[in-house]
Amino acid sequence: MTYDVVVIGTGPGGYVAAIKAAQLGLKVAVVEKRKTFGGTCLNIGCIPSKALLHASEIFAEAGHSFDALGVEVGMPKLNLEKMQGHKDATVKANVNGVEFLFKKNKIDTFIGTGKVIGEGKVSVTTDEGAVHEVETKNIIIATGSDVAGIPGVNVEFDEKVIVSSTGALDFTKVPGRLVVVGGGVIGLELGSVWARLGAKVTVVEFLDKILGTMDGEVSRQFQRLLEKQGIEFKLDAKVTGVEKSGKGAKVVFEPVKGGDAETIEADAVLVATGRRPYTDGLGLEAAGVVLDERGRVTINDHWQTSVPGIYAIGDVVRGPMLAHKAEDEGVAVAEIIAGQAGHVNYDVIPSVVYTQPEVASVGKTEEELKAAGIEYKVGKFPFTANGRARAMLHTDGFVKILADKATDRVLGAHILGYNAGEMIHELAVLMEFGGSSEDLARTCHAHPTMSEAVREAALGTFFKPIHI
Ligand SMILES: Cc1cc2nc3c(=O)[nH]c(=O)nc-3n(C[C@H](O)[C@H](O)[C@H](O)COP(=O)(O)OP(=O)(O)OC[C@H]3O[C@@H](n4cnc5c(N)ncnc54)[C@H](O)[C@@H]3O)c2cc1C
Repeated sequence: MTYDVVVIGTGPGGYVAAIKAAQLGLKVAVVEKRKTFGGTCLNIGCIPSKALLHASEIFAEAGHSFDALGVEVGMPKLNLEKMQGHKDATVKANVNGVEFLFKKNKIDTFIGTGKVIGEGKVSVTTDEGAVHEVETKNIIIATGSDVAGIPGVNVEFDEKVIVSSTGALDFTKVPGRLVVVGGGVIGLELGSVWARLGAKVTVVEFLDKILGTMDGEVSRQFQRLLEKQGIEFKLDAKVTGVEKSGKGAKVVFEPVKGGDAETIEADAVLVATGRRPYTDGLGLEAAGVVLDERGRVTINDHWQTSVPGIYAIGDVVRGPMLAHKAEDEGVAVAEIIAGQAGHVNYDVIPSVVYTQPEVASVGKTEEELKAAGIEYKVGKFPFTANGRARAMLHTDGFVKILADKATDRVLGAHILGYNAGEMIHELAVLMEFGGSSEDLARTCHAHPTMSEAVREAALGTFFKPIHI
């Protein structure tokens, strides 16, 4: 039989594309080389990290803030095995959920490594070496990304002492001293997990700020809050060596602006310096599919590669390496293959750091607006002036909204605060509809909610907040 679509890779890009295509009436198969579906996100990324972030956050709250609320439970005791069990059960429920959805949508599944072997032909090689050939009208490459390592530094991951995010999700013992190389989202989330559970965490970052692309003001205040939680930062620091040393490891770094090298000894080192698009063994070159200078599959505005009938989405193509970006591309490409108009608005893709407090943003930063020469207004509101935040002892952080000076149209929003990742979406919806800060400020918000701070920041953008 000939399929309408074969999707290689079942991460959030691939599995969503497969389901959407099946819902649109196409005959679909997926190929996955892992034993379980769901890709990086469900198996070793978003989902397990959020399970550990939630559990460790409750542990830290029980130790530090329950007492202030009049809840006396004594010092909490860590049962790491049980916490890891919660994480594993969460992963299992999610990957099984994808398997269920494939069955429900009558999607055929092939477990094995997929390779493009010609026009409309994909081979699947199982771990046992058996090879199947599958024929299809369209191929979607959704093979995601893999750990990148440190440019110019030989890092030997053993996933016990020198770990990538995958090993850092699986520690069986809290490392006494953990060095995190890379102050990006993954490093700060996993660094937070182990700091809350008792590790002395030092983050070594090449840039002069954490969360490189985030709004500078948010990044500075966020760093101060993480420092209050005991995380130490070495910024402007170029790591030149990571190696085993005795039972632990050592990290050597030198100041980017010149000066003497320093060495930190640690029980474990997490290298979280980014991810690279994963196209190994796919046979793309032979099939004529062009990659760009960073190894990403080159696509046009319709996610079509240089070869008609072969599409690519998710981490393996340009754009932010985020699960929801991959999912949106999955929906759009399925719609296009089904003859509909698929579209993704890359200007409105929220991004969230799931620490405590959370950092959430959508649209432009102040730095980006300045660089583009766009005149803008700023509205800000701190959670210290929000009644619900005070009631919950979650007053850290603020909301910042950026709007076009002439039209008042909202161009960007940044929230540092408890549950920021949930609050950001009213701004995403507003921006999708081309709304202004006045539109938002005139929308009634329930009281008392943290979201009232969003409305107040909007009021501050076009006029004045009420409560400060
Ligand atoms: C620790 C961590 C935490 C993260 N947290 C978040 C978060 O909170 N929010 C967020 O938005 N993003 C997060 N991400 C990023 C997110 O996981 C990725 O952006 C997302 O998984 C990309 O989806 P994808 O479908 O493109 O690829 P992937 O999820 O990487 O899936 C690709 C799949 O393709 C399979 N594959 C590869 N080659 C072949 C082949 N030749 N044949 C068959 N199968 C193949 C792989 O086995 C894999 O299952 C996190 C990542 C990590 C590592």
